[in-house]
Amino acid sequence: MSFKTWFQPIVPVRLIEKDLTVQVPSQFFYDWLEEHYNTLLHNTITAVIGETSSLFYIVTSEEHPSAPLANSGFDLVSTTIDFVRTQPFAPHVPLRTENLQSIRSNFNPRYTFDNFIKGDCNQLARAAALAVANNPGGTSFNPLVFYGGTGLGKTHLMHALGNHAATNGKAKRIAYVSSEKFTVDFVEAIQGDKVKEFSSFYRSMDLLVVDDIQFFSGKEKTQDNFFHTFNALYQLGKQIVLSSDVPPKELRGLDERLISRFQCGLTADIQPPDLETRIAILQKKSEENSLELPSNVVDFIAANVKKNIRELEGCLISLFARASLENREIGIDLAKDVLRVIVNDLRVPLSIDQIQKIVCEFFDIPVDLLRAKTRRQEVVIARQTAMFLAKELTNSSLKTIGLHFGGRDHSTVIHACQAVEEFLKTDGVYKQHLDQIRRKIELNE
Ligand code: ADP
Ligand code: MG
Repeated sequence: MSFKTWFQPIVPVRLIEKDLTVQVPSQFFYDWLEEHYNTLLHNTITAVIGETSSLFYIVTSEEHPSAPLANSGFDLVSTTIDFVRTQPFAPHVPLRTENLQSIRSNFNPRYTFDNFIKGDCNQLARAAALAVANNPGGTSFNPLVFYGGTGLGKTHLMHALGNHAATNGKAKRIAYVSSEKFTVDFVEAIQGDKVKEFSSFYRSMDLLVVDDIQFFSGKEKTQDNFFHTFNALYQLGKQIVLSSDVPPKELRGLDERLISRFQCGLTADIQPPDLETRIAILQKKSEENSLELPSNVVDFIAANVKKNIRELEGCLISLFARASLENREIGIDLAKDVLRVIVNDLRVPLSIDQIQKIVCEFFDIPVDLLRAKTRRQEVVIARQTAMFLAKELTNSSLKTIGLHFGGRDHSTVIHACQAVEEFLKTDGVYKQHLDQIRRKIELNE
């Protein structure tokens, strides 16, 4: 009899690791179970799932008769239920999530998807952010965790996601917070006896974005509060987005429970930008600021500033600041002066033309002859040497190199490279010459 009345109506919703979530028909039902069957439930669940297991309840609101949860998805849950959590088996104050006002807390409208440059380095993270922004809580990317080194675009992407979700009306209540601010506010809440308000605020969000979670490290009480916030939101099918400077599993000083929660959605990395992405970012940023940046300066900066995007932006700002303060033209010379302060080992991308010039100076022949048809011995040697060095020192393809030598075929370039390798093995004087030319090229940089 008891079983039929009190246990048959319980609907299992999900089991994630050791956390079992069940749906019950009413608040009264929940109270009754907790009061009369708490020990029985506890013992049974511990026996079946194991120690440290937890039971979570979803209570279907009486005004909105329950629809079967199994196939109705999260949306229904969030609009028609009150939510009660027990952790473990101690009821908390139910939190109403209905009729709350829209809120958009702390998002920076300057960071959008439009001004976020796509590259191989951030492709997955960007695609996931866009999917989540279009359907917060409705994808399997929950939580969505971005990780990557500093200055690679994590914060930008998180704001873009929030702005997009707010604009397309998919999330009414959204908040961005860094883990540091969350910690400080939590401590203040404890001191001001406002923990309940603090928790309700974050637990009422449709989309909660928490940046730099590595700073939760070692802060146990904050972590505990965040753990409960996380669970509360997760159970309601609300979207959680996090970022970290390392993959979640490498986070130190964080509770294992939290780390395993972080890993149940999608973890997307952001890598340092490749050359093409760096070039695209420089072009975009100078366009945004209506500034003219000659393409050789773009190439030069992109070739030298590789670590992160914040540094790229820093270079651009210094470049334009110095150009206007010192009244100088924006060119390679100014760029070199700016970058010297930032980059230890400056490299100017070498052009095939420069190599040809230096090789011809060394062999004392006019540069045009390299492009001409002449097969005079000294010209052939100079031409083959220049082709060899162009292959060694630039990223140009064989085809491009051939084109710079009077439209010669790529097989001619291959032949030239083989010839030079042969000279290097057999001709000591030639080897010395080549070393001297290389040194001249280095000095010229
Ligand atoms: P992180 O949070 O990973 O340390 P940020 O998001 O603060 O990095 O990015 C640093 C700067 O670089 C910001 O000004 C941001 O707008 C810019 N940035 C990063 N990635 C991109 C990108 N893919 N396209 C355009 N700007 C970017
Ligand atoms: Mg950041």
